[in-house]
Amino acid sequence: MTIQWYPGHMAKARRQMIERMKQIDVVIELVDSRIPEASRNPLVDEMASGKSRLLILNKADMADKLITQKWENYYERQGYIAHQADSRTGKGVSAIPEVVHRMTAGRRAKLEQKGFRPHADRALIIGIPNVGKSTLINRLAGRKIAKIGDRPGVTTAQQWIRAGNTMELLDTPGILWPKFKSHEVGLYLAATGAIKEDLLDFQEIAVFILKILIRRYPSQLSERYKLPPVNRSATDENEQDLIVALFDQIGRNRGCLMKGGSIDYDRTSELIVRDYRNQKLGHLTLQTPPV
Ligand code: GDP
Repeated sequence: MTIQWYPGHMAKARRQMIERMKQIDVVIELVDSRIPEASRNPLVDEMASGKSRLLILNKADMADKLITQKWENYYERQGYIAHQADSRTGKGVSAIPEVVHRMTAGRRAKLEQKGFRPHADRALIIGIPNVGKSTLINRLAGRKIAKIGDRPGVTTAQQWIRAGNTMELLDTPGILWPKFKSHEVGLYLAATGAIKEDLLDFQEIAVFILKILIRRYPSQLSERYKLPPVNRSATDENEQDLIVALFDQIGRNRGCLMKGGSIDYDRTSELIVRDYRNQKLGHLTLQTPPV
């Protein structure tokens, strides 16, 4: 997956999305449950102002259940309607049209009062590349809709897809670019594979993942790499030493060695990052909600 940064295209895509917003009642924003805030783009707030908003914590199957629940509560406190889903298997997906229908109750009541028959709930799915937009659209449609590439500014004839008895969905999702609000956000995005890794180096991403695992998932770490129990109480001063020691142990255990027998840190880093992305370390959430 490539993300290309063409300011002209981005501006055009943004204008198109604002135009499409006029046709819809509910904006369905997808985020990655492993990094919910980092996988959002604050532009949605601007583009979707005045619209009902549903926030889907997608890829819930890949994340830590307890933390996903905390994120759901957090977003609900922020005034969103939040809902967990695993679009790949369809878990949580069939409830989405009903949730949307409840969200439009006020609009429908107003129209009925005026003697109009309300139309179906019209929704648009938006989110950054790779968050699962096409997968969710296909699930909701109950069939395969052609995948539109992550190319900015692609114009195609849009179609409404029926989803359940009450909802209509635009077949082309709105693509937002990830927003690098800070270097840390870039690391979250790189760790999950949401951005091309050559934007950042593997060693940095691996260190970032290890720091989180040491604090929150030490047993998964030692189990995967057959390490002695990892010291949970790593203070900032000894964290660096601990990380170097972990790299050495993991590299050696996994045979990531250079010709002379010393540890190949690049290969070890890549291994750690791939293991995280491929769920070899378990269902782990990287970003936790603010308390
Ligand atoms: P898009 O770029 O936002 O349209 O993302 P896609 O729908 O193409 O999905 C990107 C990748 O994530 C694909 O490999 C999907 O199979 C996978 N995917 C999407 N949703 C989920 C989910 O809820 N759980 C898991 N495990 N994988 C998902």
